[in-house]
Amino acid sequence: MPERYDHFINGQSVAPLEGEYFESTNPATLETLYSAARGTAADVDAAVQAAGQAFHDPRWRDLSPTKRGHLLRRLGDLVGEHAEELARMESQDNGKLLREMRGQLTTLPEYLYYYAGLADKVQGSQIPTSSVQMLNYTQREALGVVGAITPWNSPLTLTTSKLSPALAAGNTLVIKPSEYTSRTVLRLAELATEAGFPDGVINVVTGYGTEAGAPLVDHPGIAKISFTGSTATGSAIAASAASRFIGCTLELGGKSPNIVFEDADVSNAAMGVIAGIFAAAGQTCIAGSRVFAHRSIYEELLEKVAERARSIVIGDPMLETTELGPLAFAAQQEKVNSYVELGVSEGATVLTGGGRPDVELPGYFYAPTVLTGVNNCMRVTREEIFGPVAAIMPFDSEEEVLGLANDTDYGLAAGVWTQNLARAHRMARRLEAGTVWVNTYRAMSPMSPRQGFKNSGVGIEHGLESMNEYTRLKSVWINT
Ligand code: NAD
Repeated sequence: MPERYDHFINGQSVAPLEGEYFESTNPATLETLYSAARGTAADVDAAVQAAGQAFHDPRWRDLSPTKRGHLLRRLGDLVGEHAEELARMESQDNGKLLREMRGQLTTLPEYLYYYAGLADKVQGSQIPTSSVQMLNYTQREALGVVGAITPWNSPLTLTTSKLSPALAAGNTLVIKPSEYTSRTVLRLAELATEAGFPDGVINVVTGYGTEAGAPLVDHPGIAKISFTGSTATGSAIAASAASRFIGCTLELGGKSPNIVFEDADVSNAAMGVIAGIFAAAGQTCIAGSRVFAHRSIYEELLEKVAERARSIVIGDPMLETTELGPLAFAAQQEKVNSYVELGVSEGATVLTGGGRPDVELPGYFYAPTVLTGVNNCMRVTREEIFGPVAAIMPFDSEEEVLGLANDTDYGLAAGVWTQNLARAHRMARRLEAGTVWVNTYRAMSPMSPRQGFKNSGVGIEHGLESMNEYTRLKSVWINT
């Protein structure tokens, strides 16, 4: 019998009120890993009630910000102590390479430590108004119960990115993890209890988006939604939040350009292109899926990228030698394949990859794929594929490539490869993307704020500015 996981509400495992569970499968081996509670509106209601009571409970409400920081620091320590267990769990759940997860787990505590340090630095100011008689000051206060909804591609990091600032500011949380990756988030909540967070401060309801996610968004007890996921779901969530005038932070999809100029170190750029699109089998929001190469180095870059793509070791994500694991579930594999077929029907050429590679394991593997003969108007270059598929296009001038790079509905990230400093600054200024990398790709830190432009998001995650997403400003007037 596979293991069975319940919701985590008010510091305890709680069975789903309707008694239903759903199964989670290892995408590499297709073995059933465990079953998790299939949450409904009733479970969500119980979790929001618990979080609401915990928000007003003096054990949390009156805890000093410094002590909230201590709890986050302790949680960071526990995450570090359980790094191997968490890395293995996430790797089995979504097929990410174990060695990549081990790397992520070494930095994950830093997220908690960073916000631990910010907990007692949330402050207001004294305002000089037109009347000297009046003392006017501002203070930042917690919002209440935050609903956090996260995707499957990086559940631990993405949940921690929401949980840490929300708790540092004094909120409580109900988290709805992706139905494909329930257990790491449940484990994180258990560790939070072990760290000393009072019962009810962190609650997790597992289940499907329409059955558990939507009721969380619509629940009147929620003061804010923090969501990471697809642009389509984000749009529905934003509409619901707007109807109740609650705020939302939305981290959504991308179709990021990775631009290689003629003056770049082409070998380095090729490695950057590879890492940008094939890391995590392309299942990252920041995937550099549109590659623009200056015509004079186009062939050279293409050759280097294709050669490396062909040599990528595909297979069991638990092995140290593996470089590319499976896609996370069957529908992902079908979606990626149908985009490649669509590209071909639109006139693209599959330079390498396309289809399932020859791998012994029965999972949802997809070969690293390079498409040529594409332009920026095709669906494969306009829509997020969320798989290991790079579309490589030539360009002739800086002005032309800026136009092409910005000609997208998304604005999450962009990469630039050049040795010309002035050009690097010019591109950074003019690219319509929340993150621009120059001569690197995928660099990230809890200290560095990130924001999706255009359809890639609303609000800021990470960095000092993210604390404003989880607090509201009060202005106090005192007649002296
Ligand atoms: P998704 O939108 O399908 O699901 C995300 C979460 O929302 C899941 O927990 C799901 O159960 C829930 N959900 C689905 N429908 C819902 C509804 N109607 N109401 C409330 N909740 C609902 O996204 P996904 O497939 O899990 O994740 C992949 C997407 O996430 C990609 O588009 C990717 O670019 C994006 N992403 C963005 C970032 C970022 O930081 N910008 C990071 C990672 C992933």
